[in-house]
Amino acid sequence: EKTTVAIIGAGVAGLTLATLLQKSGIACIVLETQSRSTVETLQRAGVVEARGVEMFERWGLAEDLLAGSIAQTIDYRVNGKSRIFKLTKDSRNSGRFCTQQMLVNNLLKTLIDKMCGDVRFEVQNVIIQNKQNEPTKVIYYDKAGTHEIDCKYIAGCDGSRGTSRSSIPNGILTKYSYEFGYSWLAAHVESPLKEHPIMAVSDYGFVGQLPRGPHRSRYYLQCELSDGPQDWTDERFWNEVRLRLNDSTISDVTIIDKQFVPLRSVVFSPMQYRNLFLAGDVAHLVPPTSAKGMNLALYDVDILAQAFLSAVNYNDLKALNEYSDTCLPHIWTYQDFAISMTNLMHDAGNPEQHGKFRQMTARAQLDTLFNSPAATQLHSEYQKGNI
Ligand code: FAD
Repeated sequence: EKTTVAIIGAGVAGLTLATLLQKSGIACIVLETQSRSTVETLQRAGVVEARGVEMFERWGLAEDLLAGSIAQTIDYRVNGKSRIFKLTKDSRNSGRFCTQQMLVNNLLKTLIDKMCGDVRFEVQNVIIQNKQNEPTKVIYYDKAGTHEIDCKYIAGCDGSRGTSRSSIPNGILTKYSYEFGYSWLAAHVESPLKEHPIMAVSDYGFVGQLPRGPHRSRYYLQCELSDGPQDWTDERFWNEVRLRLNDSTISDVTIIDKQFVPLRSVVFSPMQYRNLFLAGDVAHLVPPTSAKGMNLALYDVDILAQAFLSAVNYNDLKALNEYSDTCLPHIWTYQDFAISMTNLMHDAGNPEQHGKFRQMTARAQLDTLFNSPAATQLHSEYQKGNI
């Protein structure tokens, strides 16, 4: 069997890339280890930023994929005291509210149901053949047996634990990483956000609440790296939310799921090896404090889809050869933002984390976001994904 691009992984990166290629008449096959129903239920990010909106508009897909407008404010709280940060206005698009789950579902409908795209779920043991003097191939197994796909290019979009990266020989990639030393308990709950998205520091640690549709929201609570479900009963969770937000009126509601996310930043460089190109979480991770992971994945596949188009339609390999060099500066810019936001929101809180001195400087930094128009502008640009 033959195709032009074999795509490993049907997350945001793989499905968006496949949709862009399919729309441009470039043959591709997507391989996914999970079932369609599992892929459809994964819920993480909440917003497609301005750059992503512009990308989907440019490819003529925005109306099919994206939902409504988003808040242009953030409630930065310190020990329960609110301060509403207003994002500066500019002539660019604003981001759109679109949960990751909604985006993935809309991509699946558009790609499979409307465009007759080829997405194969529940595959096993995906093996990448990408050596010099050998044809580029992907081999996989399913209930029917072994399958081989001859292809020109492979896109590794299989997330942080995917296998495409490990097919690259030792010594080619450099891993740059930074561990923050704490985790977030991410909980999807059956209660909507009342007003503004909340990012709150307190003497007891960080808590955030972000919108996830008209009836739901997601809370994030700073916790120990070693914490797991056994440490966080629902009762403890709600008591801690009330304590950190200094708001006794919050009542316990149904928690749909709890996830423990160690905060870390990772970049693999370069993002390509011969005919294999990495995109999304398989190539880089940012802590969720920055809310950039899905948006960086969208950036990668926009660049990669355009590069595949030039290579396949015009035999022009320049953009493909420069794929890593085009993506990495953007990724490092948002790694910088993610580190700065994560340090700010945690150092400004519990002094046991990094000491009273760091707490005072972090709180001064938070003040500067409100008091200096230049800082307000820069922070807005980062938040909107305009840099
Ligand atoms: P994934 O979504 O992980 O998709 C990879 C796919 O590949 C999966 O379906 C997986 O099953 C499949 N796969 C794995 N291995 C194989 C294999 N060997 N063969 C075939 N398929 C395979 N980002 C934001 O922009 N904003 C946010 O607010 C935000 N909040 C987040 C909150 C949490 C709690 C977390 C954990 C992340 C958050 N992110 C956010 C980050 C965002 O979810 C990720 O960056 C995004 O999912 C990356 O997409 P991806 O397609 O690269 O990887």
